[in-house]
Amino acid sequence: MNPQYDMLEKHLNDFINEKIKPQELKHTSAPFGIYQQRNGMFMTRIRIPGGHISAKQFRDAADAIEKHQASYAHLSTRQDIQVQDVPVDQVLPLVKELTAHQMPFIGGGGNTFRNIMAPPDSGVSACDVFDVIPYAQRLTRTMYDWEKAFKLPRKLKIGFFASVRDEHLAAIQDLGFIAAMQDGKPGFKVYGGGGMGRESAFGVLLFDWIPESEYIRCAKAITELFYDHGDRNNRMQARIRFIVKRIGKEAFIKLFMEYFEKTVVSEETSSWNYDLNNCSANLKNIASPAPATQEYSTWENMQVYPTSISDEIFSVLLRVPNGNLNSSQMKQIADLADMAGLNFIRLTTEQNLLFPLVQKSILTGFYSYLNEKMNDIDLTLKSFSGNVVSCLGATVCKIGILDSTAMAQKLALRLDELFNGSLPLKEKYAEKILAMIRISGCMNSCSCHPSADIGLQGLKKKGEPHYNLFLRIGDNKFELSVPQEKPLSLDAATEKVIELLKQKFSITS
Ligand code: SF4
Repeated sequence: MNPQYDMLEKHLNDFINEKIKPQELKHTSAPFGIYQQRNGMFMTRIRIPGGHISAKQFRDAADAIEKHQASYAHLSTRQDIQVQDVPVDQVLPLVKELTAHQMPFIGGGGNTFRNIMAPPDSGVSACDVFDVIPYAQRLTRTMYDWEKAFKLPRKLKIGFFASVRDEHLAAIQDLGFIAAMQDGKPGFKVYGGGGMGRESAFGVLLFDWIPESEYIRCAKAITELFYDHGDRNNRMQARIRFIVKRIGKEAFIKLFMEYFEKTVVSEETSSWNYDLNNCSANLKNIASPAPATQEYSTWENMQVYPTSISDEIFSVLLRVPNGNLNSSQMKQIADLADMAGLNFIRLTTEQNLLFPLVQKSILTGFYSYLNEKMNDIDLTLKSFSGNVVSCLGATVCKIGILDSTAMAQKLALRLDELFNGSLPLKEKYAEKILAMIRISGCMNSCSCHPSADIGLQGLKKKGEPHYNLFLRIGDNKFELSVPQEKPLSLDAATEKVIELLKQKFSITS
Protein backbone atom coordinates (compact mmCIF):
# COMPACT_ATOMS: atom_id res chain seq x y z
CA MET A 1 0.00 0.00 0.00
CA ASN A 2 1.24 3.46 -0.94
CA PRO A 3 2.77 5.28 2.09
CA GLN A 4 0.51 8.24 1.29
CA TYR A 5 -2.36 6.09 2.60
CA ASP A 6 -0.81 6.36 6.08
CA MET A 7 -1.27 10.13 6.00
CA LEU A 8 -4.81 9.73 4.62
CA GLU A 9 -5.64 7.26 7.39
CA LYS A 10 -4.25 9.61 10.05
CA HIS A 11 -6.19 12.59 8.74
CA LEU A 12 -9.42 10.63 8.40
CA ASN A 13 -9.05 9.49 12.01
CA ASP A 14 -8.23 13.04 13.11
CA PHE A 15 -11.35 14.23 11.29
CA ILE A 16 -13.52 11.56 12.91
CA ASN A 17 -12.12 12.57 16.32
CA GLU A 18 -12.75 16.26 15.49
CA LYS A 19 -9.07 17.14 15.69
CA ILE A 20 -9.05 18.67 12.19
CA LYS A 21 -11.62 20.59 10.15
CA PRO A 22 -13.08 19.51 6.75
CA GLN A 23 -10.77 21.92 4.89
CA GLU A 24 -7.66 20.36 6.43
CA LEU A 25 -8.89 16.87 5.57
CA LYS A 26 -9.57 17.98 2.00
CA HIS A 27 -5.93 18.93 1.61
CA THR A 28 -4.96 15.28 2.09
CA SER A 29 -8.05 13.56 0.68
CA ALA A 30 -8.59 15.50 -2.59
CA PRO A 31 -5.54 13.98 -4.37
CA PHE A 32 -7.21 10.60 -3.71
CA GLY A 33 -10.47 11.82 -5.27
CA ILE A 34 -12.12 11.91 -1.84
CA TYR A 35 -14.40 14.88 -1.14
CA GLN A 36 -16.95 15.59 1.52
CA GLN A 37 -20.47 16.05 0.17
CA ARG A 38 -22.98 18.65 1.30
CA ASN A 39 -24.75 16.04 3.47
CA GLY A 40 -21.54 15.30 5.41
CA MET A 41 -20.98 11.92 3.74
CA PHE A 42 -18.11 11.37 1.30
CA MET A 43 -17.68 10.92 -2.43
CA THR A 44 -14.77 8.73 -3.52
CA ARG A 45 -13.74 8.85 -7.18
CA ILE A 46 -12.30 5.77 -8.89
CA ARG A 47 -10.33 6.56 -12.02
CA ILE A 48 -11.09 4.28 -14.95
CA PRO A 49 -8.57 4.97 -17.76
CA GLY A 50 -10.34 5.34 -21.08
CA GLY A 51 -13.60 4.41 -19.33
CA HIS A 52 -12.70 0.78 -20.00
CA ILE A 53 -13.68 -1.43 -17.05
CA SER A 54 -13.92 -5.18 -16.74
CA ALA A 55 -17.21 -6.78 -15.80
CA LYS A 56 -15.46 -8.22 -12.75
CA GLN A 57 -14.32 -4.79 -11.59
CA PHE A 58 -17.82 -3.42 -12.10
CA ARG A 59 -19.12 -6.20 -9.84
CA ASP A 60 -16.31 -5.60 -7.33
CA ALA A 61 -17.31 -1.93 -7.17
CA ALA A 62 -20.95 -2.94 -6.57
CA ASP A 63 -19.89 -5.31 -3.76
CA ALA A 64 -17.82 -2.54 -2.15
CA ILE A 65 -20.77 -0.10 -2.32
CA GLU A 66 -22.91 -2.61 -0.40
CA LYS A 67 -20.24 -3.67 2.06
CA HIS A 68 -19.22 -0.11 2.93
CA GLN A 69 -22.76 1.27 3.18
CA ALA A 70 -22.48 3.71 0.29
CA SER A 71 -25.63 4.65 -1.63
CA TYR A 72 -24.84 4.52 -5.31
CA ALA A 73 -22.28 4.96 -8.09
CA HIS A 74 -22.27 8.07 -10.24
CA LEU A 75 -20.68 7.83 -13.71
CA SER A 76 -18.85 11.09 -14.33
CA THR A 77 -18.36 13.00 -17.58
CA ARG A 78 -14.66 12.15 -17.31
CA GLN A 79 -15.35 8.41 -17.25
CA ASP A 80 -14.65 8.00 -13.54
CA ILE A 81 -16.93 6.07 -11.18
CA GLN A 82 -17.83 8.14 -8.13
CA VAL A 83 -18.99 6.15 -5.11
CA GLN A 84 -21.42 8.49 -3.36
CA ASP A 85 -22.60 8.79 0.25
CA VAL A 86 -19.76 6.85 1.85
CA PRO A 87 -19.79 7.13 5.68
CA VAL A 88 -16.53 8.66 6.87
CA ASP A 89 -15.40 5.55 8.76
CA GLN A 90 -15.86 3.47 5.58
CA VAL A 91 -13.85 5.72 3.28
CA LEU A 92 -10.45 4.15 3.84
CA PRO A 93 -11.63 0.50 3.88
CA LEU A 94 -13.49 1.13 0.60
CA VAL A 95 -10.50 2.84 -1.01
CA LYS A 96 -8.12 0.07 0.08
CA GLU A 97 -10.47 -2.68 -1.08
CA LEU A 98 -11.05 -1.28 -4.56
CA THR A 99 -7.41 -0.31 -5.01
CA ALA A 100 -6.57 -3.98 -4.38
CA HIS A 101 -8.96 -4.79 -7.27
CA GLN A 102 -6.92 -2.52 -9.60
CA MET A 103 -9.31 0.42 -9.23
CA PRO A 104 -7.09 3.23 -7.96
CA PHE A 105 -8.27 6.48 -6.40
CA ILE A 106 -4.93 8.33 -6.36
CA GLY A 107 -5.19 11.19 -8.82
CA GLY A 108 -9.00 11.20 -8.72
CA GLY A 109 -8.86 14.84 -7.63
CA GLY A 110 -6.53 17.57 -6.39
CA ASN A 111 -3.51 18.92 -8.24
CA THR A 112 -2.74 15.72 -10.09
CA PHE A 113 -3.04 14.17 -13.53
CA ARG A 114 -6.67 13.16 -13.75
CA ASN A 115 -8.40 10.23 -15.39
CA ILE A 116 -7.16 9.87 -18.97
CA MET A 117 -10.10 9.85 -21.38
CA ALA A 118 -10.81 7.93 -24.57
CA PRO A 119 -13.93 7.51 -26.74
CA PRO A 120 -16.17 4.69 -25.49
CA ASP A 121 -16.48 3.32 -29.04
CA SER A 122 -12.71 3.29 -29.58
CA GLY A 123 -11.74 0.17 -31.49
CA VAL A 124 -15.26 -0.50 -32.79
CA SER A 125 -16.17 2.74 -34.57
CA ALA A 126 -15.99 2.85 -38.35
CA CYS A 127 -14.22 6.21 -38.23
CA ASP A 128 -11.37 5.03 -35.94
CA VAL A 129 -7.82 5.32 -37.20
CA PHE A 130 -6.85 2.87 -34.47
CA ASP A 131 -7.96 1.92 -30.98
CA VAL A 132 -6.58 4.44 -28.48
CA ILE A 133 -7.73 2.92 -25.19
CA PRO A 134 -4.51 0.89 -24.75
CA TYR A 135 -2.59 4.18 -24.93
CA ALA A 136 -4.77 5.75 -22.22
CA GLN A 137 -4.17 2.70 -20.03
CA ARG A 138 -0.46 2.56 -20.72
CA LEU A 139 0.10 6.26 -20.08
CA THR A 140 -1.87 6.04 -16.82
CA ARG A 141 0.34 3.22 -15.56
CA THR A 142 3.46 5.09 -16.62
CA MET A 143 2.46 8.40 -15.05
CA TYR A 144 1.82 6.73 -11.69
CA ASP A 145 5.61 6.57 -11.39
CA TRP A 146 6.12 10.29 -11.99
CA GLU A 147 6.22 12.08 -8.66
CA LYS A 148 5.67 15.46 -10.29
CA ALA A 149 2.39 14.27 -11.84
CA PHE A 150 0.96 14.33 -8.29
CA LYS A 151 2.48 17.66 -7.22
CA LEU A 152 1.27 19.94 -9.99
CA PRO A 153 0.09 23.55 -9.65
CA ARG A 154 -3.44 22.38 -10.61
CA LYS A 155 -5.11 19.47 -12.36
CA LEU A 156 -3.79 18.06 -15.65
CA LYS A 157 -6.34 16.56 -18.03
CA ILE A 158 -5.22 14.27 -20.85
CA GLY A 159 -7.35 12.62 -23.51
CA PHE A 160 -6.85 10.24 -26.44
CA PHE A 161 -9.17 10.32 -29.43
CA ALA A 162 -9.42 7.78 -32.23
CA SER A 163 -10.10 10.08 -35.19
CA VAL A 164 -10.60 13.68 -36.32
CA ARG A 165 -14.29 13.23 -35.46
CA ASP A 166 -13.25 14.23 -31.94
CA GLU A 167 -10.50 16.74 -32.77
CA HIS A 168 -12.37 19.55 -30.98
CA LEU A 169 -12.49 17.39 -27.84
CA ALA A 170 -8.74 16.77 -28.03
CA ALA A 171 -8.20 20.51 -28.27
CA ILE A 172 -10.01 21.21 -24.97
CA GLN A 173 -7.71 18.91 -22.98
CA ASP A 174 -4.54 20.11 -21.30
CA LEU A 175 -2.98 17.51 -23.58
CA GLY A 176 -5.01 15.88 -26.35
CA PHE A 177 -3.89 13.12 -28.74
CA ILE A 178 -5.68 12.26 -31.98
CA ALA A 179 -4.82 8.99 -33.74
CA ALA A 180 -3.36 9.56 -37.21
CA MET A 181 -1.37 7.48 -39.71
CA GLN A 182 1.60 8.78 -41.69
CA ASP A 183 3.35 6.68 -44.33
CA GLY A 184 1.59 3.65 -42.94
CA LYS A 185 2.84 4.27 -39.40
CA PRO A 186 0.61 4.96 -36.37
CA GLY A 187 1.03 8.22 -34.53
CA PHE A 188 -0.78 11.22 -33.12
CA LYS A 189 -1.71 14.81 -33.83
CA VAL A 190 -1.21 16.64 -30.51
CA TYR A 191 -2.86 19.67 -28.89
CA GLY A 192 -1.83 21.27 -25.60
CA GLY A 193 -3.06 23.97 -23.25
CA GLY A 194 -6.84 23.68 -23.68
CA GLY A 195 -9.39 23.40 -20.92
CA MET A 196 -12.87 24.10 -19.57
CA GLY A 197 -13.86 26.29 -16.64
CA ARG A 198 -12.75 29.82 -15.93
CA GLU A 199 -11.69 31.30 -19.29
CA SER A 200 -12.27 28.10 -21.26
CA ALA A 201 -9.98 27.83 -24.26
CA PHE A 202 -8.95 25.57 -27.09
CA GLY A 203 -5.34 24.48 -26.92
CA VAL A 204 -2.59 25.07 -29.45
CA LEU A 205 -1.39 22.56 -32.02
CA LEU A 206 1.90 21.12 -30.75
CA PHE A 207 2.47 18.48 -33.42
CA ASP A 208 0.80 17.77 -36.73
CA TRP A 209 2.04 14.25 -36.25
CA ILE A 210 4.40 12.35 -33.98
CA PRO A 211 5.06 8.62 -34.12
CA GLU A 212 3.24 6.62 -31.45
CA SER A 213 6.56 5.86 -29.75
CA GLU A 214 6.72 9.54 -28.68
CA TYR A 215 3.41 9.93 -26.83
CA ILE A 216 4.85 9.18 -23.38
CA ARG A 217 7.69 11.63 -24.00
CA CYS A 218 5.11 14.23 -25.00
CA ALA A 219 3.14 13.66 -21.77
CA LYS A 220 6.33 13.85 -19.71
CA ALA A 221 7.33 17.12 -21.37
CA ILE A 222 3.96 18.78 -20.65
CA THR A 223 4.02 17.47 -17.05
CA GLU A 224 7.50 18.93 -16.44
CA LEU A 225 6.58 22.21 -18.15
CA PHE A 226 3.42 22.55 -16.05
CA TYR A 227 5.29 21.63 -12.87
CA ASP A 228 7.86 24.37 -13.51
CA HIS A 229 5.74 27.13 -15.05
CA GLY A 230 2.19 26.77 -13.67
CA ASP A 231 1.10 29.56 -11.33
CA ARG A 232 1.34 28.18 -7.77
CA ASN A 233 0.27 31.46 -6.16
CA ASN A 234 -3.05 32.03 -7.89
CA ARG A 235 -5.15 28.88 -8.13
CA MET A 236 -7.58 30.66 -10.47
CA GLN A 237 -4.78 31.13 -13.01
CA ALA A 238 -2.97 27.86 -12.47
CA ARG A 239 -4.07 25.64 -15.37
CA ILE A 240 -1.84 25.27 -18.43
CA ARG A 241 -4.13 27.47 -20.54
CA PHE A 242 -3.10 30.42 -18.36
CA ILE A 243 0.57 29.80 -19.19
CA VAL A 244 -0.46 30.04 -22.86
CA LYS A 245 -2.37 33.24 -22.10
CA ARG A 246 0.54 34.70 -20.12
CA ILE A 247 3.34 34.09 -22.61
CA GLY A 248 1.45 33.77 -25.91
CA LYS A 249 0.90 30.79 -28.20
CA GLU A 250 4.20 30.92 -30.07
CA ALA A 251 6.27 31.23 -26.91
CA PHE A 252 4.29 28.36 -25.37
CA ILE A 253 5.01 26.10 -28.34
CA LYS A 254 8.71 27.06 -28.17
CA LEU A 255 8.78 26.37 -24.45
CA PHE A 256 7.07 23.02 -24.94
CA MET A 257 9.59 22.06 -27.64
CA GLU A 258 12.47 22.87 -25.28
CA TYR A 259 11.00 20.50 -22.71
CA PHE A 260 10.26 17.88 -25.36
CA GLU A 261 13.83 18.01 -26.65
CA LYS A 262 15.36 17.42 -23.24
CA THR A 263 12.86 14.75 -22.18
CA VAL A 264 13.98 11.15 -22.33
CA VAL A 265 11.69 8.23 -21.55
CA SER A 266 12.68 4.62 -21.49
CA GLU A 267 9.30 2.91 -21.32
CA GLU A 268 8.65 0.35 -24.02
CA THR A 269 5.28 0.58 -25.68
CA SER A 270 4.09 -3.01 -25.87
CA SER A 271 2.01 -5.37 -23.71
CA TRP A 272 -1.46 -3.90 -24.05
CA ASN A 273 -4.12 -4.93 -21.59
CA TYR A 274 -6.59 -6.40 -24.00
CA ASP A 275 -7.16 -7.36 -27.58
CA LEU A 276 -10.53 -6.59 -29.15
CA ASN A 277 -10.22 -9.53 -31.55
CA ASN A 278 -9.84 -11.91 -28.62
CA CYS A 279 -12.76 -10.24 -26.90
CA SER A 280 -15.04 -10.67 -29.90
CA ALA A 281 -14.00 -14.31 -30.14
CA ASN A 282 -15.36 -14.80 -26.60
CA LEU A 283 -18.85 -13.60 -27.43
CA LYS A 284 -21.48 -16.14 -26.49
CA ASN A 285 -25.00 -16.97 -27.45
CA ILE A 286 -27.36 -16.16 -24.64
CA ALA A 287 -30.91 -17.50 -24.78
CA SER A 288 -32.50 -15.38 -27.42
CA PRO A 289 -36.30 -15.25 -27.55
CA ALA A 290 -37.47 -12.91 -30.29
CA PRO A 291 -39.61 -10.09 -28.93
CA ALA A 292 -40.98 -8.80 -32.24
CA THR A 293 -42.49 -5.82 -30.50
CA GLN A 294 -42.62 -2.16 -31.40
CA GLU A 295 -40.66 -1.48 -28.22
CA TYR A 296 -37.86 -3.80 -29.34
CA SER A 297 -37.67 -2.06 -32.74
CA THR A 298 -37.50 1.32 -31.01
CA TRP A 299 -34.69 0.07 -28.76
CA GLU A 300 -32.81 -1.29 -31.75
CA ASN A 301 -33.26 1.98 -33.65
CA MET A 302 -32.18 4.17 -30.76
CA GLN A 303 -29.62 2.22 -28.73
CA VAL A 304 -27.94 -0.28 -31.05
CA TYR A 305 -25.06 0.79 -33.32
CA PRO A 306 -23.09 -0.96 -36.05
CA THR A 307 -19.38 -1.61 -35.43
CA SER A 308 -16.34 -1.84 -37.66
CA ILE A 309 -15.63 -5.37 -36.37
CA SER A 310 -18.22 -7.12 -38.55
CA ASP A 311 -21.85 -6.99 -39.73
CA GLU A 312 -22.59 -9.52 -37.01
CA ILE A 313 -21.33 -7.43 -34.08
CA PHE A 314 -23.03 -4.35 -32.66
CA SER A 315 -22.57 -1.91 -29.80
CA VAL A 316 -25.40 -1.36 -27.33
CA LEU A 317 -25.86 1.84 -25.35
CA LEU A 318 -27.48 1.74 -21.93
CA ARG A 319 -28.78 5.16 -20.87
CA VAL A 320 -28.15 5.47 -17.13
CA PRO A 321 -30.59 7.84 -15.37
CA ASN A 322 -28.53 10.87 -14.28
CA GLY A 323 -25.46 8.62 -14.47
CA ASN A 324 -26.54 6.93 -11.22
CA LEU A 325 -26.62 3.18 -10.55
CA ASN A 326 -27.26 1.28 -7.35
CA SER A 327 -25.27 -1.83 -6.50
CA SER A 328 -28.01 -4.25 -7.66
CA GLN A 329 -28.17 -2.59 -11.05
CA MET A 330 -24.38 -2.74 -11.33
CA LYS A 331 -24.39 -6.46 -10.60
CA GLN A 332 -27.11 -7.07 -13.18
CA ILE A 333 -25.04 -5.17 -15.74
CA ALA A 334 -21.94 -7.22 -14.89
CA ASP A 335 -24.03 -10.43 -15.15
CA LEU A 336 -25.30 -9.38 -18.56
CA ALA A 337 -21.77 -8.68 -19.80
CA ASP A 338 -20.71 -12.12 -18.53
CA MET A 339 -23.66 -13.84 -20.20
CA ALA A 340 -22.81 -12.12 -23.48
CA GLY A 341 -19.19 -13.29 -23.14
CA LEU A 342 -18.08 -9.67 -23.02
CA ASN A 343 -15.45 -9.21 -20.34
CA PHE A 344 -15.53 -5.42 -20.31
CA ILE A 345 -17.86 -2.46 -20.67
CA ARG A 346 -17.17 1.20 -21.36
CA LEU A 347 -18.19 4.35 -19.51
CA THR A 348 -19.27 7.19 -21.78
CA THR A 349 -18.74 10.92 -21.31
CA GLU A 350 -22.56 11.30 -21.32
CA GLN A 351 -22.64 9.30 -18.07
CA ASN A 352 -23.98 6.19 -19.79
CA LEU A 353 -22.62 2.70 -20.48
CA LEU A 354 -21.64 1.08 -23.76
CA PHE A 355 -21.47 -2.65 -24.37
CA PRO A 356 -19.10 -2.38 -27.35
CA LEU A 357 -19.32 -5.89 -28.77
CA VAL A 358 -22.66 -7.67 -28.84
CA GLN A 359 -23.37 -10.42 -31.32
CA LYS A 360 -26.33 -9.77 -33.64
CA SER A 361 -27.79 -13.18 -32.83
CA ILE A 362 -28.15 -12.31 -29.15
CA LEU A 363 -29.58 -8.80 -29.48
CA THR A 364 -33.12 -9.96 -28.74
CA GLY A 365 -31.96 -11.91 -25.68
CA PHE A 366 -29.89 -8.94 -24.59
CA TYR A 367 -32.95 -6.70 -24.83
CA SER A 368 -35.16 -9.23 -23.01
CA TYR A 369 -32.71 -9.39 -20.11
CA LEU A 370 -32.61 -5.60 -19.79
CA ASN A 371 -36.38 -5.36 -20.10
CA GLU A 372 -37.07 -8.01 -17.47
CA LYS A 373 -34.30 -7.37 -14.96
CA MET A 374 -33.71 -3.65 -15.23
CA ASN A 375 -37.21 -2.29 -15.54
CA ASP A 376 -36.28 0.89 -13.66
CA ILE A 377 -34.08 1.88 -16.62
CA ASP A 378 -35.80 3.49 -19.60
CA LEU A 379 -34.63 1.45 -22.60
CA THR A 380 -36.45 3.37 -25.31
CA LEU A 381 -36.27 7.01 -24.19
CA LYS A 382 -39.93 7.05 -23.22
CA SER A 383 -38.98 10.17 -21.29
CA PHE A 384 -36.05 12.56 -21.41
CA SER A 385 -35.99 12.39 -17.59
CA GLY A 386 -32.55 11.42 -16.36
CA ASN A 387 -31.08 11.75 -19.85
CA VAL A 388 -30.11 15.42 -20.06
CA VAL A 389 -26.42 15.56 -19.05
CA SER A 390 -25.70 17.55 -15.92
CA CYS A 391 -23.17 17.44 -13.11
CA LEU A 392 -24.36 16.22 -9.71
CA GLY A 393 -25.08 19.79 -8.62
CA ALA A 394 -25.31 21.63 -5.36
CA THR A 395 -27.54 19.23 -3.44
CA VAL A 396 -24.57 16.83 -3.42
CA CYS A 397 -21.53 18.93 -4.29
CA LYS A 398 -20.30 21.15 -1.48
CA ILE A 399 -18.96 23.93 -3.69
CA GLY A 400 -21.82 23.95 -6.18
CA ILE A 401 -24.23 26.86 -6.50
CA LEU A 402 -27.36 25.40 -8.09
CA ASP A 403 -29.06 22.03 -8.30
CA SER A 404 -28.17 21.31 -11.94
CA THR A 405 -29.84 17.88 -11.81
CA ALA A 406 -33.17 19.55 -11.01
CA MET A 407 -32.62 21.93 -13.93
CA ALA A 408 -31.92 18.96 -16.20
CA GLN A 409 -35.16 17.35 -15.02
CA LYS A 410 -37.13 20.56 -15.65
CA LEU A 411 -35.80 20.72 -19.18
CA ALA A 412 -36.40 16.99 -19.72
CA LEU A 413 -40.09 17.36 -18.89
CA ARG A 414 -40.43 20.20 -21.40
CA LEU A 415 -38.68 18.06 -24.01
CA ASP A 416 -41.24 15.32 -23.31
CA GLU A 417 -44.00 17.87 -23.97
CA LEU A 418 -42.26 19.04 -27.13
CA PHE A 419 -42.31 15.56 -28.64
CA ASN A 420 -45.74 14.91 -27.21
CA GLY A 421 -45.65 11.19 -27.86
CA SER A 422 -44.40 11.45 -31.44
CA LEU A 423 -42.12 8.41 -31.65
CA PRO A 424 -40.85 9.06 -35.21
CA LEU A 425 -39.77 12.58 -34.25
CA LYS A 426 -38.12 11.33 -31.10
CA GLU A 427 -36.26 8.57 -32.94
CA LYS A 428 -35.06 11.19 -35.41
CA TYR A 429 -33.93 13.94 -33.04
CA ALA A 430 -33.61 12.77 -29.42
CA GLU A 431 -30.02 11.55 -29.64
CA LYS A 432 -28.90 14.72 -31.44
CA ILE A 433 -30.63 16.91 -28.87
CA LEU A 434 -29.15 15.07 -25.90
CA ALA A 435 -25.67 15.36 -27.43
CA MET A 436 -26.10 19.14 -27.65
CA ILE A 437 -26.93 20.03 -24.03
CA ARG A 438 -24.78 20.16 -20.87
CA ILE A 439 -25.71 21.71 -17.51
CA SER A 440 -23.27 22.65 -14.72
CA GLY A 441 -24.24 23.81 -11.23
CA CYS A 442 -21.45 26.41 -11.16
CA MET A 443 -18.61 27.82 -13.22
CA ASN A 444 -16.39 24.80 -12.49
CA SER A 445 -17.95 23.31 -15.61
CA CYS A 446 -17.91 19.67 -14.52
CA SER A 447 -20.46 18.88 -17.24
CA CYS A 448 -18.16 20.63 -19.80
CA HIS A 449 -20.98 23.01 -20.76
CA PRO A 450 -18.64 25.51 -22.53
CA SER A 451 -17.92 22.83 -25.14
CA ALA A 452 -21.61 22.02 -25.71
CA ASP A 453 -23.81 23.53 -28.40
CA ILE A 454 -26.15 24.62 -25.62
CA GLY A 455 -24.65 24.99 -22.14
CA LEU A 456 -26.18 26.16 -18.90
CA GLN A 457 -24.11 27.37 -15.94
CA GLY A 458 -25.74 27.93 -12.56
CA LEU A 459 -25.27 31.13 -10.59
CA LYS A 460 -27.11 33.31 -8.11
CA LYS A 461 -28.26 36.79 -9.14
CA LYS A 462 -29.45 38.96 -6.28
CA GLY A 463 -29.71 35.73 -4.29
CA GLU A 464 -32.02 34.12 -6.86
CA PRO A 465 -31.09 31.05 -8.94
CA HIS A 466 -30.28 31.83 -12.56
CA TYR A 467 -28.49 30.16 -15.44
CA ASN A 468 -26.01 31.66 -17.86
CA LEU A 469 -26.80 30.38 -21.32
CA PHE A 470 -23.82 29.38 -23.48
CA LEU A 471 -24.47 29.01 -27.22
CA ARG A 472 -22.27 27.81 -30.01
CA ILE A 473 -22.84 30.06 -32.97
CA GLY A 474 -22.92 27.96 -36.12
CA ASP A 475 -21.80 24.36 -36.53
CA ASN A 476 -18.06 24.80 -36.10
CA LYS A 477 -17.12 22.54 -33.21
CA PHE A 478 -13.82 24.38 -33.04
CA GLU A 479 -15.55 27.36 -31.52
CA LEU A 480 -16.49 27.35 -27.87
CA SER A 481 -20.03 28.25 -26.99
CA VAL A 482 -20.42 31.90 -26.10
CA PRO A 483 -22.06 33.06 -22.85
CA GLN A 484 -25.12 35.17 -23.61
CA GLU A 485 -25.50 38.58 -22.09
CA LYS A 486 -28.00 38.19 -19.28
CA PRO A 487 -28.45 35.33 -16.83
CA LEU A 488 -31.93 33.80 -17.15
CA SER A 489 -34.36 32.59 -14.54
CA LEU A 490 -34.90 28.80 -14.52
CA ASP A 491 -38.20 29.12 -16.42
CA ALA A 492 -36.77 31.56 -18.95
CA ALA A 493 -33.67 29.39 -19.51
CA THR A 494 -35.85 26.31 -20.07
CA GLU A 495 -38.10 28.06 -22.57
CA LYS A 496 -35.14 29.59 -24.38
CA VAL A 497 -33.53 26.17 -24.84
CA ILE A 498 -36.82 24.69 -26.10
CA GLU A 499 -37.20 27.61 -28.52
CA LEU A 500 -33.68 27.12 -29.88
CA LEU A 501 -34.27 23.40 -30.41
CA LYS A 502 -37.58 24.00 -32.16
CA GLN A 503 -35.86 26.41 -34.53
CA LYS A 504 -32.88 24.15 -35.18
CA PHE A 505 -34.93 21.05 -35.94
CA SER A 506 -37.98 22.84 -37.39
CA ILE A 507 -40.22 21.24 -34.81
CA THR A 508 -43.67 22.77 -34.64
CA SER A 509 -45.85 22.16 -31.59
S1 SF4 B 1 -19.90 22.11 -11.86
FE1 SF4 B 1 -19.96 22.97 -9.80
S2 SF4 B 1 -21.86 22.11 -8.93
FE2 SF4 B 1 -21.32 20.85 -10.65
S3 SF4 B 1 -20.14 19.15 -9.74
FE3 SF4 B 1 -18.69 20.73 -10.52
S4 SF4 B 1 -18.24 21.97 -8.74
FE4 SF4 B 1 -20.12 20.83 -8.25
